Formats: sequence, structure tokens, C-alpha cells
Amino acid sequence: MSAPTPPAGITGGPDPLEGLAAPQEAAAAASALAAGRPDLRALPREGLATLVAGLGQKPFRARQLQRWLHRQGAASLDEMTDLPKALRAALAASSGLTTLDRASEQVSSDGTIKWAWRTADGKLVESVYMPETDRKTLCVSSQVGCAIGCTFCMTGTMGLVRHLTAGEIVDQIHRANRRIVELGGGPAPRPLTNLVFMGMGEPLHNYQALTAALALLLDEDGPNFSHRHVTVSTSGLVPMMRRLGQETQVKLAVSLNATTDAVRDRLMPINRRWPIAELLAACRDFPMKQGRRITFEYVLLDGVNDSDEDAERLARLLRGIPSKVNLIAYNDNPGLGFRAPPAARVEAFHQRLCDRLITAVVRKNRGSDIAAACGQLVAPGGRGDPRRGAAAP
Ligand code: SAH
Ligand code: SF4
Repeated sequence: MSAPTPPAGITGGPDPLEGLAAPQEAAAAASALAAGRPDLRALPREGLATLVAGLGQKPFRARQLQRWLHRQGAASLDEMTDLPKALRAALAASSGLTTLDRASEQVSSDGTIKWAWRTADGKLVESVYMPETDRKTLCVSSQVGCAIGCTFCMTGTMGLVRHLTAGEIVDQIHRANRRIVELGGGPAPRPLTNLVFMGMGEPLHNYQALTAALALLLDEDGPNFSHRHVTVSTSGLVPMMRRLGQETQVKLAVSLNATTDAVRDRLMPINRRWPIAELLAACRDFPMKQGRRITFEYVLLDGVNDSDEDAERLARLLRGIPSKVNLIAYNDNPGLGFRAPPAARVEAFHQRLCDRLITAVVRKNRGSDIAAACGQLVAPGGRGDPRRGAAAP
């Protein structure tokens, strides 16, 4: 297998994110919402306060508005019945409001639900709901597509279409909460207990919108998630990992997936920019408040990264980092040239890690019957969708 060309701006150039910060279509979304007008869904609490004060309203109105937007997940201003009509009209005239449309819903035999949401400019992004007895987790997308281009990942085959806005990120959670309540899956207004940024896209490549969304999601006048229940997963954008550690308290997951640079270069082109030693140095420096541990994700690929030597190297690499390893047997994506190891190999790899006192679990393969498992998310009918070819005349 030949290595893919690294995405421009990720592996070359002085600024690793240069050229990727403003994808071509990002502007389209903004203009589709409301040219030059702020998105109420994306405004930080101070922004809402300024806007409401500018409309000559008392400060408590801003808090009321924030609760409607982010605690109740209101889909429109019309729902906000205890706000004066005049204020609602003034808000409608001066701002926009991102609310995603539910384009599709697929329910897996194991209870997992995958939703595709349509943005105002017609893009599709996916979120995956994973109910368990002790927690209800939503896997959230941060971009349409992904620029990183990992060779085993379906989302990677799409390339980057555009970043999601903070409003589009948080609204995945609001639409999911509302729908779960509607389906009888938990109490209003917030049945979800945990969030993982492991859907489509590389969250740290969309850092500004991600952190704006996190602030809204952790706010006590919003859904009020605990930072201990929010995990951001990255392929290894080292500078942004360092910033995330300084600026937030959420948990970090790192998609490691290989134990040598030669193999990781092949699987994850970002490794050529920030190789394993630099990535793990950033992990060692990551602030570990209150027993925080880093989750290392390791997708097992038959004959590529699943040998006994790999397990031993992995244990050595992680020595001294408070961590846990999630082993994920590869979820098949036709045409990408990889397959999962036999179950016995997965267990042998797992056992070898445990023998070396590494905390490791084999992740359940959820929702694979509806292509909702890790690395299978792709815009329906878009580039990279295996169903696309099948539907073609
Ligand atoms: N871009 C971020 C967030 C997405 S998380 C990141 O890569 O960390 C997606 C996770 O699914 C990553 O850990 C990735 O390694 C894993 N993954 C991708 N394709 C997969 C596949 N086909 N089978 C199993 N896991 C996969
Ligand atoms: Fe992007 Fe993560 Fe998929 Fe790599 S694994 S292509 S970083 S979504």
C-alpha cells in the first residue's frame, strides 16, 4: 500500500494548520445562516448578554434566553413563550439561530441510534447515540469530512468539506436530547450523560468552534455536562493538544493506532508532522487534574499493528503515562484494504497488555449493522459512501 499524500497544511509549511483553517465552504454556512448576523446558538454567555443589553432589555433576559437555547434546546424563538414577543421579534430581526434538521435516523439491534443532521447549507453530519445501563453517550461530529486522511477511516476518504460552527456542534446534542426524550429514552431536558468527540472530523483542527461549544455545554445555564464526562479525541495535533490541556478540563483521547513511526506514517499521515515521540511527550505534559487519564485508542488491523511485538512496544511507550487503552477491532470499510484480526489475536494482544500492567479494554463494536461504528461515519451518498456506487444507475 502506498502512503497517501499528506493534506496540505497538515504535514508541511511553517504553520501546520495554515490553509486548513478556512476551508472553502465555511463561508457558505455563515452566509446561509444570516449574513453578518450573529448565531444565537453559538454566542458565548457574554455575547448573549451584550446582545440583549443592546436591545434595551434587563440582564435576566439573557440568562432566560441562554436556558432556552442550551438547557431546553429550543428549536425556535417561538418556543420561548416567557420571553416578551417584542424581544423575540427583535432577536429574529438581528440574529440567526442554528437548528439542525433530522435527515435520517437508523436504530441498531443493540439500541445504538445513528442520526444524520442537515445543516442550513445542506451538508450532512452524523451523531451516534450509545445507551448503556449506567450512561447515555453521544458521539459528536466536529467537521463535515476530515482533512487528516487516515488510510483506514471512512470519514478520512471524504476529505475536509468544512468545519462545523459552534452552533452546529452544540445543536447535535440538543437535537439528540430532544429525540431521546421523544422516544422515551430518558428524562427531559437532558437524558445524555456523556459526550465523546469521536464522530466525523478532527476536533482539534476546528479548535475555536470546539472550545466555544465546550464552554456552552459545560455551562450551568446550558446542559451543564461535567468535564469528567466529556472526551475529545484527536489523531495527534500536538500544539492544539497542549492548548486544550491548558484551556479546558475535559478528558483527552488519542488515536495512537501504531507503535512505530513507519507504520503510523502509513496509517495516519499526521504522524509525519508530529511523530510518536512528540505525540507522547505532549501526552506526558498533559495536565492530569483529579485523576484524569488519557485514553489511547488503538484500532487493531490484521497483520499491520497487531503482533505480540506491537503489544510489547505499546506497553513500553505508555509507561509512566496515566492512561487506559481502548482496543478496537477494525470495523470493516469495503475498499480500504484493511481487515480486523481474528478474535483470538485481539484477545492475545489484550492479554499481553494486561500482563504488562496496562489498563486495556476491548471496545464493544456498537451499531455496526447501521454503519455507526468508529470510523464508519461518512456523509450519506457523498464521496466515500460505499452505498453511493450501489445506488448509481
Ligand atoms: N479525528 C479524531 C476523532 C474521530 S475518533 C480521531 O481520529 O481521534 C474516530 C476513532 O475511530 C479514532 O480513534 C480512529 O482511530 C477510529 N477508527 C477510524 N476508522 C476505524 C475503523 N474502520 N474501525 C475502527 N476504528 C476506526
Ligand atoms: Fe480524521 Fe480521525 Fe478518521 Fe483520521 S481517524 S481520518 S483524524 S476522523
